[in-house]
Amino acid sequence: MAEFDLIELIRARAMHSRGDVVLGIGDDAALLEVPAGQRLVACTDTLVAGVHFPEATAPQDIGWKSLAVNLSDLAAMGAQPAWAMLALALPLADVRFVEQFAEGFMELARQFEVALVGGDTTRGPLGITVTAMGFVPEGGALLRSGARAGDAVFVTGTLGDAAGALEMRESGIGNRGPETRAAAALPARLNRPEPRVAAGLALRGIAGACIDVSDGLLEDLGHLCCASGVGAEIDADALPLSPVLQEAFPAAQRRGFALAGGDDYELCFTASEADSARVARAFAALDCGATRIGRVVAQPGVRVFDANGKTLEPRRRGWQHFAT
Ligand code: ADP
Ligand code: MG
Repeated sequence: MAEFDLIELIRARAMHSRGDVVLGIGDDAALLEVPAGQRLVACTDTLVAGVHFPEATAPQDIGWKSLAVNLSDLAAMGAQPAWAMLALALPLADVRFVEQFAEGFMELARQFEVALVGGDTTRGPLGITVTAMGFVPEGGALLRSGARAGDAVFVTGTLGDAAGALEMRESGIGNRGPETRAAAALPARLNRPEPRVAAGLALRGIAGACIDVSDGLLEDLGHLCCASGVGAEIDADALPLSPVLQEAFPAAQRRGFALAGGDDYELCFTASEADSARVARAFAALDCGATRIGRVVAQPGVRVFDANGKTLEPRRRGWQHFAT
């Protein structure tokens, strides 16, 4: 099967169209229409086999995740997703892989009415680069730089489930009692993250700063704090953990997953204390919650405390490529 046949397999599954796609897959580039008064928000993320997903991950899940991680970046900006581009490097012209990959990718694309408008298909070690684009009203984007000392720090959903799933996979646990329930529930959090698009939209005009948690809470909140010129204090006992994670792992281990495990794809954001009620109202209508986990302080750095006010020194702070 040739490159053009593979592209056709993808194009045939990408038939979802939008009025703002003047020209999609098929020419040298796409022609797209940004609504008046809106800014184009663009992001890109690469997934490499064995780094961003275990080699044995189902092709449908790789497809889903490759788009999900990008929609998560758009969500963190408060953007409404619109379009995606897909650059695929494949070791072989594997029709089944491409079909199943496209199935998972399109399942999520349909959910958010994202049109696949182009891409590139090459031979090479399995790697997927997706570019996602969306809109925010002028001046309406959620930035990392808007946190102020005295603000509250929140996180959506729950943290640490994906890291728990990886741990179960690597240690081979998961065949007994509560672990069985975790083994059934946690892999979906690793393989099929739910980008918090609705939360990002609801936080426009409320959140001072926002970032998505992809490399571990401490790492990513650290980036937000650096960009804002502030620090943060986190209450380790306030971290939102799923019931299954709590059943399957001891306290110290699940806390480590929540603080430093990657692949959560939740949003971490700040809001003034005065806006706490607005945050609660915004999330009352959403299918994920938001939990207050700490506060912004003037002193740089992110520190973690337990309920007794004792400082915790997490062993890991997050995930960094090229770290030595
Ligand atoms: P060119 O050689 O001009 O870059 P290509 O042959 O790479 O063109 O691509 C032909 C068309 O197919 C383009 O519109 C491109 O955006 C689209 N395309 C190629 N690969 C993919 C892919 N993996 N997913 C979606 N569209 C693709
Ligand atoms: Mg090309």
